[in-house]
Amino acid sequence: MLVSVVILQFFLHSNRTIRVWMKRDSGQYWPSIYHAMPSSCSCMTFNPETRRLLVGMDTGNVFEFILSEDYNKMTPTHTYQAHQGRVTVVLFVLEMEWLLSTGQDKTFTWHCSESGQQLGSYHTSAWVSGLQFDVETRHAFVGDQSGQVTILKLEQDSCSLVTTFKGHTGNVTALCWDPAQRVLFSGSSDHSIIMWDIGGRKGTAIELQGHNDKVQGLCYASHTRQLISCSADGGIVIWNMDVTRQETPEWLDSDSCQKCEQPFFWNFKQMWDSKKIGLRQHHCRKCGQALCGKCSSKRSTIPLMGFEFEVRVCDGCHASITDEDRAPTATFHDSKHAIVYLHYEPTTGCLLTSGTDKVVKLWDMTPVVS
Ligand SMILES: [Zn+2]
Ligand SMILES: [Zn+2]
Repeated sequence: MLVSVVILQFFLHSNRTIRVWMKRDSGQYWPSIYHAMPSSCSCMTFNPETRRLLVGMDTGNVFEFILSEDYNKMTPTHTYQAHQGRVTVVLFVLEMEWLLSTGQDKTFTWHCSESGQQLGSYHTSAWVSGLQFDVETRHAFVGDQSGQVTILKLEQDSCSLVTTFKGHTGNVTALCWDPAQRVLFSGSSDHSIIMWDIGGRKGTAIELQGHNDKVQGLCYASHTRQLISCSADGGIVIWNMDVTRQETPEWLDSDSCQKCEQPFFWNFKQMWDSKKIGLRQHHCRKCGQALCGKCSSKRSTIPLMGFEFEVRVCDGCHASITDEDRAPTATFHDSKHAIVYLHYEPTTGCLLTSGTDKVVKLWDMTPVVS
């Protein structure tokens, strides 16, 4: 198998080299290629079928290489002048022969990888850190630093805006598309992941809370229906997506606690009339009621709502959550380095993490992703 012998590694900023690591008979990985680049690499993608490697650069160019069959040589084939600033994401779509890319110049462009010609471009509201493409319907999902995901319908040389998803309070840092279930996952610097159920056609968006830091990468193992996510603190979470989760309720608005009726601090009239002190408003994560601190003092995990960590719940909801309901629907692992990049290879069951420590770790995921 191709992918079991080749791992591509790049270093951001500090290193201008591309290395191809091959697994040797000894079981150890050694670089077969050590290629010097003219400037810093910012992102890359590899297509195993065509052995095509596309590398986005700080200068805005995208370099295309073909790797030899024995992975001992890489030959430059194209240079795309794609952007005015750093390339943030590159994506290659073999079915269309398209190269999709986004840059710090706030543009999304697509090129024909056969002619090298630019086919079209679209101005994004902020610079993009997540990009996915659905081959069947030709929709591009573009996640940006303002926290929104833009959905574009691409034609050969034009595109139209379909809709935008707004749900994160921080930057979108990663996107992952599952074409079988037609579900889009977005990860954010707000520590959360949102599962946008497009295939379900009901507008369902489920929040997954299992990280204590910025989400840095997302991969979907379609054969086992597990989502793999990682965060800047080194946490790796494997989510069972066979579980049906519920949407979190809208938070209700009230001028007084919906249980004990004590006024909240902005409700001067009731504070005066009843000679009561105004309290801070909190919300129960399960029912969404507006409550005072005393009436929402309990904490619980609610895995079926995506809360793998304990969150604030009211007394009534706390009593209604059974131990069975609290059974985790995800497993938690520590990679012991600050992850910047994540890649999962389903054919080998290998997970690759690359960290700020410039170490690349390979994880055998077969015990947990199966
Ligand atoms: Zn209360
Ligand atoms: Zn409640």
